[in-house]
This record gives sequence, C-alpha cells and structure tokens, in this order.
Amino acid sequence: MSAIIVVGTQWGDEGKGKATDLLADRVDYVVRYQGGNNAGHTVIVGDVTLKLHLVPSGVMYEHVTPVIADGVVIDPGVLLTELDQLVDQGLDPSKLRISGNAHVIMPYHLELDRLTERHLGRQKLGTTKRGIGPAYADKASRVGLRVQDLYDMKIFRQKLDTVLKERNAVLSRVYNRLPMKAADIETEYAVYAERLAPYIADTGTLLHDALDQGQAVLLEGAQGTLLDLDHGTYPFVTSSNPVAGGALTGAGLGPDRITQVIGITKAYVTRVGAGPFPTELGAEGASAASHDIAERMTEVGGEYGTTTGRRRRVGWFDAVLARYARRVNGLTEQFLTKLDVLSQFDVLRVCRAYRYQDSEFEHFPPHQSIIHRAAPIYEELPGWGTEITEVEHYADLPKPAQAYVDRLEELTQVPVRWVSVGPERRQTLERD
Ligand code: GDP
Repeated sequence: MSAIIVVGTQWGDEGKGKATDLLADRVDYVVRYQGGNNAGHTVIVGDVTLKLHLVPSGVMYEHVTPVIADGVVIDPGVLLTELDQLVDQGLDPSKLRISGNAHVIMPYHLELDRLTERHLGRQKLGTTKRGIGPAYADKASRVGLRVQDLYDMKIFRQKLDTVLKERNAVLSRVYNRLPMKAADIETEYAVYAERLAPYIADTGTLLHDALDQGQAVLLEGAQGTLLDLDHGTYPFVTSSNPVAGGALTGAGLGPDRITQVIGITKAYVTRVGAGPFPTELGAEGASAASHDIAERMTEVGGEYGTTTGRRRRVGWFDAVLARYARRVNGLTEQFLTKLDVLSQFDVLRVCRAYRYQDSEFEHFPPHQSIIHRAAPIYEELPGWGTEITEVEHYADLPKPAQAYVDRLEELTQVPVRWVSVGPERRQTLERD
C-alpha cells in the first residue's frame, strides 16, 4: 500500500503536471483533491501536448484510473469539453471516476466571480474568474450543490431555488444585472448529469479498497503551498487547501495512508496575480538589470499561464519559502524542475533569509506586513554557461549545476531526488 502526495512548494506552476505524469508510471490511481479548472497542467509526451484543467494527468496512462475527489469543485461544462478534447487526441478517459461529494460550479458563481473582481478595483485578487472562489464560499456556507444532487433533480431544483433567490437579489440590486432563471439552469445541468453519469463513483471507498489491496495512489495538488487558503499569502491565495493536509480531507484518506510527500520545486520562483513576492525580479521600480533578467527568465522559461495565458511574475529561488513548504507539508523529498532555464545566467542568486528592519527571518514571517516589506538576503552561485537539456545522467551535469542543486538541498533540508532539465518526460534526471 502506498499513497503519495505531490504538492507544489511555491505559488503553483512548479511543473507538477510533468512530475505527476512521470510518477504515474508507478501508480494505479491519480487523484485530484482540491481546486477546480483554475489549475492548469501541461503534459508533453512525444508529439502530444495535453493541457489539462480538471482531469488528473494520469489520464495519459492506460493502467491508471484518474479520480476527481470530494475536495474539488467541478464546472461540468468545462469538464465535458476537456473529456471531448481527450477523445479527439486519441485518449480514452472512460476510467475517470468523479466523487458525488464534489461541489458543482454554477452559472451564478461565474457571474459573481467576474463582478466582485471588478468591484474590488485595484484591490482585486487576480482570480481566474471561473467561479471557483464563489463555489467554495457556498460550500462553506452550506448552500452549495454537489455532484450527487444532479441525480435527484427534485432536490437539485429545491436547493437551486433557495440559493438563487438570494443570488438574484445580489445580481440585480448590487450589480444591476438581470436575474438568472432556475428552469434554464436546471435544463442545462440535467444534460450535464446525463453525460457525466458513467463517471460518478464512491471515490473514497474506491481508494481505500485499492490501498488495502496493495495498489498505489498518487494524490496531485493543484496550485501550490503559498496559495493555500490557510497557509498561503492570504488574501492572495486560492480558495482551497493545496497543502498535504488538503490531500487527506480532499480525498477522504487518513494520515496513516501516506508514505511519501513529494514537493515540486522550481529552480527559481514564479507567481501569477497579485500579492507579496520577496525575490521578484523586474518589479515596479527595479533596476534595468533586474528587468533584463526577469525578461529572459520569463521568455526562456515560457512563464505564461496554462489556463489564462497571463504572464507570470518571476524571481530568484527562495529558500525561506521552501523551508516553509517543508514544514507545512511534511515533505519527504523534492522534484526540482526547470533547472535548464537558469543555464543562460552567469551568476545565480539564492535567497537564504529575509531582512526586515533589524531582524533576519530564516523562517516565513508570521505577519503579512513583514512579508510584504521583507528584503531577500542573497547568496551568489556561479552559473554553468552551457545548455543542459540533453544531459541524460545526473553525474553528467556541469559541476556548478550540481553545486546549485546541492546548495538548494542544504538550504531547504529536503533531499532532491529528481532534477528536470526540460519539459519532456525523458528530460528528467533521477539521483541515486
Ligand atoms: P503545473 O501547474 O505545476 O503543472 O505547471 P505548468 O504546467 O503550468 O508549468 C510548467 C511548464 O513548464 C509546462 O509548460 C511544462 O511543460 C514546463 N516544464 C516542466 N518541467 C520543465 C523543465 O524542467 N524545463 C522546462 N524548460 N520546462 C519544463
């Protein structure tokens, strides 16, 4: 029996898609445990590039059963489109299993997401406007609709009527919009229900039985540790719990089931949307040199969102974040990605601590105001001055590249077991 959690150690986009896809080779189930279609994984195998938003990346493997667990919020229209696309690309998603406990994103969630972001103006959070936050808010307020409600249309309509009354009042009186019609929503969602029916299952029992029978389960987080609702840089966070603890609640497993917690760590740091970012390069008021490095990091790293196409903010590696991620998630090892993107720089910087007024912070500061104003304390390491994308064995990496990995390992106190030097599956170096 083994259940492995894969979690991003930064603000998401660490390359979890690639890491999960690679590890999926060794497992029977790949489970999404939180978030919705605000996440985006890119998986490249040979000529096929898959952009996945909801379906777990393990879908590429015939032997894997992909599972969307209880903790996820599902936009059924988006999910069906994604399934159709997979079929168009010659894949068979029929093994997918979806929890009846997962919550459903409704049309008013999308509308309210758009409207509240606009209302917040400059204070906006930079959400992906896909209704994820409002759906989780309804879940916490206990007025959400769940996947299982789609299979009792009477209950569905009752719940919908209750919640829509209040939502329509907000839409029309606060935002001056037309109210939505329950009958239209019911008709639309009844069609989704029919198409999704073959995939619905008791995923909790499915996973427990699988583990009891000695099968392996991989739990893949979306977003990353610093975007966690409780442990991230609130309020610039996502509305669910990507951390390892979220994998347990999201999939309905106990801590005794977990055998490994793998942190996916990018060799530098990126972040989408607003919020503090101590090691950011090319921020407002930064030097021309800083802008230049940021530009090159973004371009070579292809740092544009899978879901939104938004340009990501970029910065040097931050060991304070990584140590925090180790503690919050109980990481047992790391998968380091995108080392190849750093090949272009002569000198690399690594943040080992933050300075705020007269204090030095080795650990993530407990107060938001400090995080916003913290200045990184950097160490410099030499670059390696050569491409590494074709390297096949870790020992063949240039010595300065190995020294960089060693230093990251030392600073984060978590063994780096894999090093990724390109987007493709074969471009992964496993360390002994
Ligand atoms: P995720 O959400 O954490 O899976 O991250 P994304 O899929 O949004 O971003 C990762 C991007 O980096 C994808 O386009 C990957 O194909 C690509 N990628 C992953 N690992 C590497 C790597 O080691 N080097 C390079 N150059 N690209 C990588």
